[in-house]
Amino acid sequence: MTDRDLGLRRRITRRDFLNGMALGVGGAFVLPDWAAALLVSDAGALRAAHQTPGRLYYPPALTGLRGSHAGSFETFHALKDGPFWPSSGRITSTRETYDLAVVGGGISGLAAAYYYRQAAGVQARIIVFDNHDDFGGHAKRNEFTANGRTYLAYGGTQSIRSPAPYNAVAKALLRDLGIDVSRAAQVLDATLYGALGLQPAFFFDKETFGVDRLVGGYARQFSEAFLNASPLAEPVKRDLTRLVTDPWDPLPDLSSAEKKARLARISYAQFLTQVWQLDAGVLPLFQTRTHGLFGVGIDAVPAQDAWGLGFPGFQGMHLEPGAGPGQNYDAIRHPAAAAYAFHFPDGNASVARLLVRCLIPGAIPGATMDDVVTARANYNRLDAAGSPVRIRLNSTVVQVRPDRPGEAAGSVDVAYVRGGTLHRVRARAAVLACWHSVIPYLCPELPPRQKEALAYAVKVPLVYTNVLLRNWTAFQKLGVHAIMAPGLWHTSMSLAAPVSLGTYRCPRSPDEPIVLHLAKTPCKPGLEARLQHRAGRVELLSTPFETIERSIRGQLARTLSGGGFDPARDILAITVNRWPHGYAYQYNSLSDPFWLEGGEPPCVVARQRFGRIAIANADAAAYAYTDAAIDQAHRAVHEILHLR
Ligand SMILES: Cc1cc2nc3c(=O)[nH]c(=O)nc-3n(C[C@H](O)[C@H](O)[C@H](O)COP(=O)(O)OP(=O)(O)OC[C@H]3O[C@@H](n4cnc5c(N)ncnc54)[C@H](O)[C@@H]3O)c2cc1C
Repeated sequence: MTDRDLGLRRRITRRDFLNGMALGVGGAFVLPDWAAALLVSDAGALRAAHQTPGRLYYPPALTGLRGSHAGSFETFHALKDGPFWPSSGRITSTRETYDLAVVGGGISGLAAAYYYRQAAGVQARIIVFDNHDDFGGHAKRNEFTANGRTYLAYGGTQSIRSPAPYNAVAKALLRDLGIDVSRAAQVLDATLYGALGLQPAFFFDKETFGVDRLVGGYARQFSEAFLNASPLAEPVKRDLTRLVTDPWDPLPDLSSAEKKARLARISYAQFLTQVWQLDAGVLPLFQTRTHGLFGVGIDAVPAQDAWGLGFPGFQGMHLEPGAGPGQNYDAIRHPAAAAYAFHFPDGNASVARLLVRCLIPGAIPGATMDDVVTARANYNRLDAAGSPVRIRLNSTVVQVRPDRPGEAAGSVDVAYVRGGTLHRVRARAAVLACWHSVIPYLCPELPPRQKEALAYAVKVPLVYTNVLLRNWTAFQKLGVHAIMAPGLWHTSMSLAAPVSLGTYRCPRSPDEPIVLHLAKTPCKPGLEARLQHRAGRVELLSTPFETIERSIRGQLARTLSGGGFDPARDILAITVNRWPHGYAYQYNSLSDPFWLEGGEPPCVVARQRFGRIAIANADAAAYAYTDAAIDQAHRAVHEILHLR
């Protein structure tokens, strides 16, 4: 299809053509890269102001390239790569003093502000910095408007849910914020899509499978009907059937513990092709199934973890229940964890918004978990002079320096760049709730061993794209609501979860607009997991929005045209949430020997207090979940409270 057929040049709602690459390059010949980026940052604020008529600044409604948007990362990259300090100007003191400065306005940073205020009192003066134009970090809200109605989506942190049960600390915070997870089943219409005859499907693409074909009835255990409808070769179908039905034990002479130890040292891909000796044609059916949890495919996921996740091939091995050494947190399914789950229409952005409501009264109107869903945040209130808690957006922290070494320190200076200028505030203590890999550059005085441990935390890159569709009649005609497409740019897509809460109502009729959610995990199969994440990050930062838009339009045309979908007509808006630094890195028995052998994990060394500086973020637990972000904030704050 041509770009014209795909609708690439059509006007869609507030499409944003800016991207870091294009602007960074354009400005480079007159300004250092990082300074050009700051102009982009201001442009971002301007865009926000212009694109929501009559309102000043409202980032949730921005479309185009979001997540780590243009203007959010360039200053830090200049700091990391060297040119920042030589070309930066003088640091201007704001003369502001605080009890606590927090670096990072994600759930961990906001929770740190919450805990500090709870312990120190409502008069405590706290400032939270974030380099993005919105608060919440990964917990990002996307809003769309069509026919005068608002459609919500999550641009990152999706749900309250963790592989292990939330502990008392995290549960208490959510309870204090007014969140009642026991209402989960009541607000989700779990039968809506099934009642309309829609089911999960698999898209066989011609590059991988020889032909483009959408096949419904996709389930973890492949049914006979699904395999018969697929374009797979007969030996592949036979091998898949064997894999899911044969109670074969490939390691009959070993105990359960010995088998788990063996499985921890090979990938699931090796398990399939070397232990089961299956046709390599089975691999594409599984390759991307692990992307959503691990950020890599089955080439880098240990077979023991695949067993923990319920993948086929282990049914005859008599493995005893319970985690084996080196199992990834995500592959340990605690039965009690599933019961503690909740999904807001904008994901855990509602958790971040409830925290902000609590920290800065008046910033987000309302009082309940219901009314927060549709409440409009007043961004002008976030950094108001005179408010004890301030949230300063579009501000990249570049230095966090104690006035004296170690325990002798009496205060901490925090330098940050905003609007092209370097500023400084002074605080009695700081919590660094930002990504761990950033911290060695902010605090070069940290012990070398701690800096090395902080740098170990290579975040998992991800893309969460939301596309507002004119209607979903094509899905209805095809009988699908979710599609796995391992050979396409976005490897999965699904219609919005049907959640209605407060005055927000999910779309119920296929004739209405709806948000389609697509996910991609950029990775490079064959490499060790952290190298795959690094390569994926480079790919994300160098892929312009137009390339992604073209791939989205092409993907929807290929998968849905059988139902009458026309990308030029049916796409109303696109928001691509790009996260080059996504999930916290969770240890893996194939690539992290200390994890298998029971040594001290780097996150323990990384999160040690340094005088008046404490360290939070989900990275501090090497656990990519909201409860970790909260727990680590709680620990970090309690480490520095006595220094008031
Ligand atoms: C796509 C995606 C989906 C996810 N889904 C789920 C889910 O369903 N459930 C779940 O529990 N978890 C999920 N997570 C994990 C999520 O990371 C955590 O739940 C939680 O939101 C992390 O919060 P945090 O505050 O620790 O980190 P972050 O949200 O990353 O916040 C840290 C903030 O610090 C900022 N920062 C970094 N450096 C600087 C600097 N120098 N100056 C100023 N600011 C800086 C960052 O830009 C960021 O905004 C998901 C993550 C991603 C990326």
